[in-house]
Amino acid sequence: SAKAEGRNRIHIFNDQIKHHNASQIKLEEQLRHAVEDELSLHFQPIYYVDSEEIYGVEALLRWNSKEFGKVSPRDFIPLAEETGLIVSIGEWVIYEAIRVMKKWQRKYDVPIKMFINLSSRQVNHPNFSRELKRIFDITDIDPRRISFEITESMMIDNFEQGKLILGELIDMGVKLSLDDFGTGYSSLSSLRHLPFQILKIDKSFIDDLSAVDANVAILKAIIEMAHSLNLSVVAEGIERQEQYDLVASLGVDFIQGYYTNPPLPEDKIEKIFQEKTPTKTE
Ligand code: C2E
Ligand code: MG
Ligand code: MG
Ligand code: MG
Repeated sequence: SAKAEGRNRIHIFNDQIKHHNASQIKLEEQLRHAVEDELSLHFQPIYYVDSEEIYGVEALLRWNSKEFGKVSPRDFIPLAEETGLIVSIGEWVIYEAIRVMKKWQRKYDVPIKMFINLSSRQVNHPNFSRELKRIFDITDIDPRRISFEITESMMIDNFEQGKLILGELIDMGVKLSLDDFGTGYSSLSSLRHLPFQILKIDKSFIDDLSAVDANVAILKAIIEMAHSLNLSVVAEGIERQEQYDLVASLGVDFIQGYYTNPPLPEDKIEKIFQEKTPTKTE
């Protein structure tokens, strides 16, 4: 049966993850099957603080493994990075996210912004820029509607190389967001020469706000500095009204978190569009 076949495929996939001595081509072949079968994207809305309208959505990978059940991206992304599988998975993520953007554009006339996470290994792959150009050629999507999320660790590994690639991405017209800000070591001033448009304040930073007053002052300073560098600010991981009120009062531009929506499958996001905007027939 198809189910058994899928199970076999994922066995092969897992085996190859474990002993990744198989040829890259074979590995990727298996991965593509696993991708089609078991990976999907969820989307978490990012809202304007002022208008309560959706600014964009972040694409977040989900793996529903026939063997292991739901596996968190915090577990399988590092594995995919280690083995290099992130290159194919990441490419699939970009295609899939663009497919959904085009569908939503057609059905609801929403030129929604799509935030897509990139991993260091993926971006540093020698074919990354070329592949991306090809994707934009094939899919005919406005690259300005895509914001790639990059963490500072990518820049720490190899600053000059990172800067070069970010420049190439900007030349293609995409936007760049600095993800998980506040978890690492970079100061905003060290990032001022990098072409980011958006700063995403990490959830862990938001979580500490209520506990320590000094953090509120620090966040306020971060937001002000970001704005003076022409960066917009997203507060991630907003779970409660008082967190929302606080970051809004500090001048955050966008919020993302369970308070407004958790990451949702495609059809649930469409329900939101149907409530908020006039529906177009397909
Ligand atoms: P991230 O990019 O920082 O994504 C935000 C994470 O915070 C997501 O976890 C999201 O579900 C979670 N989150 C959002 N709002 C809340 C909240 O209010 N409360 C709590 N407790 N959590 C919230 P998720 O989906 O488990 O993804 C974890 C990480 O995996 C992501 O962190 C990202 O680093 C990585 N990831 C996910 N999808 C991809 C992908 O397509 N490519 C790459 N390279 N990495 C990905
Ligand atoms: Mg992210
Ligand atoms: Mg983040
Ligand atoms: Mg992260």
